[in-house]
Amino acid sequence: MKLANLAGRAALVVGDRAIDLATVTDGDLGPDVQPLFARWPEVQAVAARLGADDGHPFDPALLGPPVPRPAQVFAIGLNYRAHAEESGMELPEVPATFTKFPACLNGPFGDVEVPTDTTDWEVELVVVIGELADRIAEGAAWDHVAGLTVGQDLSERTVQFAAGRQFSLGKSFRGFAPIGPWVVTPDELDNPDDLALGCSLNGETVQSSRTSDLVFTVPQLIAELSAVVPLLPGDLVFTGTPAGIGSARTPPRYLHPGDVLESWVEGIGSIRNTMVAARP
Ligand code: ZN
Repeated sequence: MKLANLAGRAALVVGDRAIDLATVTDGDLGPDVQPLFARWPEVQAVAARLGADDGHPFDPALLGPPVPRPAQVFAIGLNYRAHAEESGMELPEVPATFTKFPACLNGPFGDVEVPTDTTDWEVELVVVIGELADRIAEGAAWDHVAGLTVGQDLSERTVQFAAGRQFSLGKSFRGFAPIGPWVVTPDELDNPDDLALGCSLNGETVQSSRTSDLVFTVPQLIAELSAVVPLLPGDLVFTGTPAGIGSARTPPRYLHPGDVLESWVEGIGSIRNTMVAARP
């Protein structure tokens, strides 16, 4: 099942068509997307009896973030070995965790204001929590995942490393968390623990890896995080970025207005974000 946020309304996506969930359930489910992650089995039951014939063609430009108002957004640093190496950092023994403040969420095709000349890219697999995950063991972790989506952990490196290390603020400028194009349930994927992911800048591939290279796997992240704090339905976990970020290059390379950043995860889809000048 693929669930999207189409112009603010929950939509099941089948092929190139969208089914408005509130319309087909007489308003029982939707149109608001966010409450659906707490009612995921009901959404899946409705999806199981619908097909492309129930949908209509749609304009991808109308897609918003498929998880519009998560209560919590976790993000993990240094979670691919080669990325830790390019950053000159030791691999952490526990997940290096920060937040992206939820108001920085952006749609899959939204523009991103570039606030400075040290703004960087980080393609990531993003986990969407379904059923409450509170002190969950690794073996049960996937049962608490509603689905997966593609994300960019855009990062303003100067603010990120100012004042000690304030990752959360430097990674939460307006529009710095584009996600989408939809949430895909794990059962749609051959192996949700091994997905190719990457991103390109103006058509040139700059990151390319597989999620099987994650240092802390999705189940391990859910176990570690939920041992500290409950993960709520519709929460997000940005699982970390592979090697190939701009700031680790020689010379460093950053994003500028006019740049087009395309990001993908195998079996989920692609998002495409255009960099624009920041408003004064
Ligand atoms: Zn990141």
